[in-house]
Amino acid sequence: MTTDPFDIARAEEMIRGYSARWYDEPLDYLAVEVEAEGPLVNPETGAASRTFALGGKLDGLVRDRRTDRVLVLERKTSGEDISDGSMYWRRLLLNAQISTYLTLARTLGHDPTGILYDVLGKPGIRPSSVPIVEDGAKVVLDANGARVRTKDGKKWRETTDASQGYVLQTRPETVDEFRERLRAVICEKPDELFRRGYPVRLEAEEREAAFDAWQTAAAIREGRNANRFPRNPDACIRYGSTCTFFGVCTGETSLEDPLRYRRVENVHEELAARATRLPLLTNSEIGTHRACARLHHYRYDLGYRALEDSDNQRFGSLVHAGLEAWTLAIAGGATELECVERAFAAMSAPPVRPATVASADVSTLTPPIIRSPVTL
Ligand code: SF4
Repeated sequence: MTTDPFDIARAEEMIRGYSARWYDEPLDYLAVEVEAEGPLVNPETGAASRTFALGGKLDGLVRDRRTDRVLVLERKTSGEDISDGSMYWRRLLLNAQISTYLTLARTLGHDPTGILYDVLGKPGIRPSSVPIVEDGAKVVLDANGARVRTKDGKKWRETTDASQGYVLQTRPETVDEFRERLRAVICEKPDELFRRGYPVRLEAEEREAAFDAWQTAAAIREGRNANRFPRNPDACIRYGSTCTFFGVCTGETSLEDPLRYRRVENVHEELAARATRLPLLTNSEIGTHRACARLHHYRYDLGYRALEDSDNQRFGSLVHAGLEAWTLAIAGGATELECVERAFAAMSAPPVRPATVASADVSTLTPPIIRSPVTL
């Protein structure tokens, strides 16, 4: 999680705004951060894979008291346009994750009829600089460092003029000033920043998604059998961040660099409990393989992780920790203030790093090579 005080302020104000927007919604929280596993089914034959099981962690399951519908809760933060009809929502029509989560929720004994897709927009403002004020006026200095007066000499000049070498003096914004500005932006447009959608899946769409998952699983297995993992340079920069393995692919560094990479025991760090013996296939893994088979190989076959997550990942983890605590609090009947306080406390707690593999044990991570060409 990030320790940048400006990021923490941004995350806290987002949670505060989220809570103000949604605390009173008539939802019963049936489960929070729940792990689920189920068979990966061949949609053609109905047979379960013998190579993988589907797995994942649902943000939650809720019952909407207005409609009595049970919904899978899925939360995201996004810097994209999340207004109605935007690409963000249109893309969800193709999102296989939704179908997978519905499937997983059914394995838990629920019968969800859709998803509550809960998006927190990231306010676009950044820490800025603010004018230095002295004697009630902004400070403007000339090229010699002397404070400039207005033409009539009665007041201090407050505007810059590059042609005359007059420069407005500024200082970095403090965290409290940034927080105040952020809060004003959030209060001004809560409906734009905190949006909920209710995507459903028709039978045909669920079948399409099942084929997507099945074929991705087949491609993963095929790559392992051939020991080939194609690179995809189009995926090296995504969501504004460079892939954390870029240096490895370009030959500038190596996976064995202990200052950059660690090797994990559990390649699905978000999942602890295991009910099945088969390796799990999660949405993140499927998405990673679709983006780049080499990246998938580094992360899920070999178990490498960058020591430093990208800024976006760190911020996402921070907000997620806060939302998880907020949801557990509201599910337990806490007041709105208590929910926010618990979210803030969770975001200030030091992150727990999952177990890393000791160097002597790394061979245990090599995935089994399964060479049956017929079934998954
Ligand atoms: S692993 Fe894939 S996405 Fe990452 S740098 Fe290499 S080619 Fe690019």
